[in-house]
Amino acid sequence: MQATTFEGQLRDPSLTSPDQSNYSVPAVLELSATGISAQTEGHPARQLSWSGMRLRRNDGGAIEFTQAGLTVTSLDPNILRAVESLAGNDLGNDIARLGGASVSGPWRTRLGCLAVCALITWMVAKVPACFDAVTEGVAESIPYSADEAIGELATGSMPTNGKEITDPVLRGAIEVMLNRIAPHRSLPDAEFQFKIVRNPTVNAFALPGGYITVFTGLIEKATSPEQVAGVLAHEISHVTKRHGINRIVKAAGTAAVVAVTLGDLGGVEEVAIEVLTSVTMNGYGRGDESEADREGVRMLIAARIDPEGLAQFFETLEVEQEGEVPVWMSTHPAPGGRAQAVRDQVFELSSTPEWEPLDIDWDKLLQRLDEI
Ligand SMILES: [Zn+2]
Repeated sequence: MQATTFEGQLRDPSLTSPDQSNYSVPAVLELSATGISAQTEGHPARQLSWSGMRLRRNDGGAIEFTQAGLTVTSLDPNILRAVESLAGNDLGNDIARLGGASVSGPWRTRLGCLAVCALITWMVAKVPACFDAVTEGVAESIPYSADEAIGELATGSMPTNGKEITDPVLRGAIEVMLNRIAPHRSLPDAEFQFKIVRNPTVNAFALPGGYITVFTGLIEKATSPEQVAGVLAHEISHVTKRHGINRIVKAAGTAAVVAVTLGDLGGVEEVAIEVLTSVTMNGYGRGDESEADREGVRMLIAARIDPEGLAQFFETLEVEQEGEVPVWMSTHPAPGGRAQAVRDQVFELSSTPEWEPLDIDWDKLLQRLDEI
C-alpha cells in the first residue's frame, strides 16, 4: 500500500513558544480521504481538511499545506504522490503547479464553474480527467536526454544489496528477451541497459533513461522465460512512458530537471536519488503501474511473446508469497486483478497472433544460476 503517514511539522498560532513567537512542533501527518491529521506530542491532533487547503513549496524546500490558520510541512517527496491520490480533485491545481506544469487560464475558469451546483454531475465526471491531463503532460516539454542523464547519475546509488552477475549465459538470456521486446517500444529514442543482481528478493525496477535492474530472486521464481519477459516489458514501459522523470519533475520542479540537459545536475541529484530509491522499493504508484502493465502487454503482443507468462507470474507470486506481496507489486491492492487484466487485454484482440516461444532453455538457465 502507498504510505499515508509522513513525518513533518505543525505550525499553529495557538501553540506559542515561551518568547511568544509562533513555533513549529514535530508532527506525524496522517493523510486520509478527508484531509490531514497532524499528531503531536502533548497536544490534541489538529485536523486540516482538503477542502480550501492551499499547497506550496516553501523556501526550505518542504511541501507546505495551509488550511484554516493551520500549517503543516513535510520534506518527504512521497507526500505529494499520496496527496495526489487522496485529494487530486481538491488540490489538482496546486499539485500541477508544484510539478512545474503551467495551469492554463481556461482550466482555472472551468474549476471556478464547478462550484455551480447545476454542474455537479459534470464535475464528478470531468475533474479527474482535467487533473490527469495536466499531470500526465509534465515530462513532455523535457528532452529525453534528461531521463538519460538522471538515470546514469542514479543507477549507481540504488540500494540493490547484491553483487552484479556478469555471467554471459544469464546476461544472454535477458538480451534475447530485450531484443524481442525493445523494437516495439513507443519511444524510439529509448535504449536499454540492464544489470542482474544477486539478491533473493523477487524484484525488478527501471530508472529513467532505460537503466533496468533484475534481481536473481525474480528469475528463480519464474518457471518460463516468457514470465521474466513479461516483467521486462513492464519495466521497459516505465521508461518509455517516462514515469520516473514525471515523478522527479513533481518533486524538484521543471526548471531543475531542464537544467540537467544543460549539464547542471546539482539541482536535482539529491531529489532524484531519493525519489528513485523509493521507486525501487515501492513501485511507481498504482496509476503508473497499471499503465506499465498495459503498455507492456501491448509490446509483448507485438513481439509475439505470449502475455500469459506475465499473468501466470502474477498468480505465482500471489500464491507462493502467502499474502506477502513483493515490493514492486505492493501498490496494487489485488494482484489477482492484475493477472485478469493481462488476460482481458489479450482477449480484446480481434485475432490472437501465433506466439513465438523465446529461444531460452529455462531449466539450464536456473541450473547455471545455481552453479555460479
Ligand atoms: Zn512497475
